Amino acid sequence: MKTLSSVLVFVLVACFPYIECSAQERPPVIDMHMHAHHIPLDLPPGAPPPCLPRPCQPEGAATATSDESLQKTLEAMQRYNIVLGFLSSADLDIVQDWMSAAPDRFIPSPFIEAPGDLSPDMLRQEYEVGRLAGMGEIGSQLLGVPPNDPALAPYYELAEEFDVPVLIHTAGIGPPVPGFRTGAGNPLLLEDVLVRHPDLRVFVENSGYPFLDDMIAMMYQYPQLYGDLSTITWVIPRPAFHRYLEELVRAGLGKRLMFGSDQMRWPEKIGEAIEAIEEADYLTEEQKRDILYNNATRFLRLEAEPR
Ligand SMILES: [Zn+2]
Repeated sequence: MKTLSSVLVFVLVACFPYIECSAQERPPVIDMHMHAHHIPLDLPPGAPPPCLPRPCQPEGAATATSDESLQKTLEAMQRYNIVLGFLSSADLDIVQDWMSAAPDRFIPSPFIEAPGDLSPDMLRQEYEVGRLAGMGEIGSQLLGVPPNDPALAPYYELAEEFDVPVLIHTAGIGPPVPGFRTGAGNPLLLEDVLVRHPDLRVFVENSGYPFLDDMIAMMYQYPQLYGDLSTITWVIPRPAFHRYLEELVRAGLGKRLMFGSDQMRWPEKIGEAIEAIEEADYLTEEQKRDILYNNATRFLRLEAEPR
């Protein structure tokens, strides 16, 4: 199995058959929250993306096929110099299709919704042969199952054993599915997990939005905990996103926040998400580089100098 560090070294020094080897003007980005044509709702092609608060009028049209999602995602990755993406789907065949199409561009990972649907025994075999290298997004909150539910324990044990990064949806907002429970997403509910699995490398979707104070408390107390800035770059009003990001940075947590797009079937959201970080006039250039790249290299333990 290739280590993640060897993947990044390849990314930094090599060109890809489907990408021109011209000099990249943009500095590199790591996208810590991507999906392989996955969405928790079965939406028709052309459906608009989610937005909050409803009623609202989002811009965008869902892709029709996995291949369209892949091609448009790769185009955005080239345009914005995204060298690596943490990629998940509940359909592991689709994840492998994307890996075959773009080797070394993604960290392949299973989307866990109902605990047990993707069995820990099956996943163990995938980790053993190196077909998976991450855990999650764990999206059991979409069914009202909180992160400290015992049904998730086998997944944490697997992630700890194979030392893979874990993305978990533990936040106040989510897709409009009947089973979703805001109350099952308070970041404080992660505490039992972090105590029981001290070596787990966890990052939280949307840094727990909007549970700001609870997320700060958890990140202060558990230095291994990171947060992503993903869907909130485009699903909520932009001023609300900036307020949240600024508060996290003012709390001193700017070294543990990582960019993600959560593009699902709307690849155009990748560019919007990056631009949301870049337009933050309260951040220094170094702080933006930390969020867009440097923090992820540390979290993923990639052997690369910050750029
Ligand atoms: Zn997601």
